Amino acid sequence: MKKILVANRGEIAVRVLRTAQRLGYATVTVFSDADADAPHVALGDQAVRLGPADVGESYLNSERVLDAAAKSGADAIHPGYGFLSENADFARHVIEAGLTWIGPPPDAMEVMGNKAASKSALADSDVPLVPGYSGNDQSNSTFATAAEEIGYPVMIKASAGGGGRGMRLVTSADALESNLDSARSESLKAFGSDELLLEKAIVDPRHVEFQVFGDNHGNVIHLGERDCSIQRRHQKVVEEAPSPAVSQDLRDRMGAAAIAAAKAVGYTNAGTVEFLLSDDGNFYFIEMNTRLQVEHPVTELVTGFDLVEWQLQVAAGDPLPATQKDVQLCGHAIEVRLYAESPSNDFLPSTGPVLHWQPPDGDSIRVDHGLASGQEITPFYDAMIAKVIAHGPDRSVARRRLSRALTRTVTLGVETNRGFLLDTIEHPTFAAGDATTGFLAQTWNDPPAPSPLLPALAAVVLTTHQSAPDASGLSAFRFPTAVQFDSRDPLSRIDVTPRSGSIHVQSATQDITVDVISCGNNKLVFECDGLRSRAAFAIGPDNMVWIQYGRDCESFRNALLAPAGSADTAASGRILAPMPGAVLKVSATAGDTVQAGQPLLVLEAMKMEHTIETPSAGTIAEVLVSAGDQVTPRQLMVVVEPTAPAAT
Ligand code: ADP
Ligand code: ADP
Ligand code: MG
Repeated sequence: MKKILVANRGEIAVRVLRTAQRLGYATVTVFSDADADAPHVALGDQAVRLGPADVGESYLNSERVLDAAAKSGADAIHPGYGFLSENADFARHVIEAGLTWIGPPPDAMEVMGNKAASKSALADSDVPLVPGYSGNDQSNSTFATAAEEIGYPVMIKASAGGGGRGMRLVTSADALESNLDSARSESLKAFGSDELLLEKAIVDPRHVEFQVFGDNHGNVIHLGERDCSIQRRHQKVVEEAPSPAVSQDLRDRMGAAAIAAAKAVGYTNAGTVEFLLSDDGNFYFIEMNTRLQVEHPVTELVTGFDLVEWQLQVAAGDPLPATQKDVQLCGHAIEVRLYAESPSNDFLPSTGPVLHWQPPDGDSIRVDHGLASGQEITPFYDAMIAKVIAHGPDRSVARRRLSRALTRTVTLGVETNRGFLLDTIEHPTFAAGDATTGFLAQTWNDPPAPSPLLPALAAVVLTTHQSAPDASGLSAFRFPTAVQFDSRDPLSRIDVTPRSGSIHVQSATQDITVDVISCGNNKLVFECDGLRSRAAFAIGPDNMVWIQYGRDCESFRNALLAPAGSADTAASGRILAPMPGAVLKVSATAGDTVQAGQPLLVLEAMKMEHTIETPSAGTIAEVLVSAGDQVTPRQLMVVVEPTAPAAT
């Protein structure tokens, strides 16, 4: 192995490149047209264009990836995670082409890639499985009988599933059939297979997974566990190692089961064996992921090992660099996944240019990312933009460090889940180490109102910039300026009056005097009530101001400057696309009467489906899109004629 092609993008490509280059390998990166200027591309010694943005023509296109290897003379392929990483056929093609596949044996990937097949492979082993049905007979009546035997509640899963898709919790028999139908169609669309299985639903479990590693010399060991109980829609958001719920005795028993699972399929290289841990201390295998995992950094921080280095060593035929007794867990590590999404808007993905990106630094803080200021977040790929990870001698130090690091992580230009992550890790239940997989669903409401200081700071930034960015500073504008913000509170109007050296900000709800100490380079230093603080800011297109202060980050548009005719959706009944995407399904028909909140159509963007509803009751006047259409942001999709208010 001399030259490694990294068949991935973003933070994972950057992560793999770092180790490969440190070990002296030549590296090749690949990219789609949407990523031509992305940092991961420039980091490779050479780079090959795969094709257009669409994953089918780029990162998911095995032929083009193999061509890129041939063109560049790469003799090994690291798939990262996602994309082709769990595709056994791709792994076989790589090997048939005479290249080194940096991953597990394709046959083991094939068995473990299917939840039903993995369970039958482990049926005779000592690995405890969740009781359930995963047979070939897929008829509704067989599932109904099986569900009665298992006992409700049951979990429906897509055998080929992943990423939480195709999964349904069913609490009673009358809801089984409709859930089977919808799970089948979701699974067929997402994974090309409608095969389902049933499992007993474990009530309020923890997700505890084990990192395993095998080599080609018969050694298989585990590197301890990760607790990934903080999930939204069955997708991990926060991960930590070790688990607050696992004692050394339990670790030994679960670790032995994880090793047994890997051995049962002749596993080598990195893999993760996932278990559910119930509150009575029993644990059950749910699946094995046959790749490096998104959350591998927490294991690296507590073991001190570089898992990508191990992957390269195993692929090169070397024995594992450590034995089981060499694995010592040191301290505690916690990771959060930073997503470009809007928690206040049902976690809708957000896209657009990153106006300013500043990862946090500091002792024991690690940031895995592939971002740069000015880069565009496009709708084509996963919405995860970075991972922030903190290590500490114990859990409370790690958590405190993470909290401070996240507060100092600046992402302006696209909305992110940063505030949501902060709320999560600061929640008393998480702080106590008591969170289970139900935690977010049980505790997450709408986000708290942002600090009232944010619009005031936005007004300060706007007026400071609009007046005179020269040395004369604030005295350059003499008259009170009014700024009306087009934000969550459309009525906010703020009067800004310059005083000698200060800016006075007044609105219906606040009366604040802000002394501007400095304002430039995306940083506003100000004094308010005798307290000197910092906020980060960026000004985007359309005079959109982004302000991040502490936990909060908001964008404001000065409505006094907004172009005419931009009157917005709700009142006008004009339903615009909230983001770029593909129309999956249209249920609105012209002439229909609709109630407020009724679904009109389903949009797919960034691998997620989003139902678009009418905010007001009325009659559908016009439907301008149909299933299969691509839409751009703010494209008019449906016109709803609002119902006239009842005459009094
Ligand atoms: P894990 O199993 O490590 O928790 P997830 O289940 O959250 O990871 O991820 C599911 C899938 O999402 C991954 O296998 C991959 O398909 C995709 N994915 C997540 N993050 C990225 C990323 N940064 N780049 C490409 N694909 C990603
Ligand atoms: P995926 O392939 O999408 O990662 P998993 O089988 O790993 O699917 O399950 C993902 C998550 O869904 C688990 O971490 C857990 O929170 C929940 N889950 C899965 N199976 C069960 C079950 N039988 N009972 C309760 N929760 C479950
Ligand atoms: Mg899983």
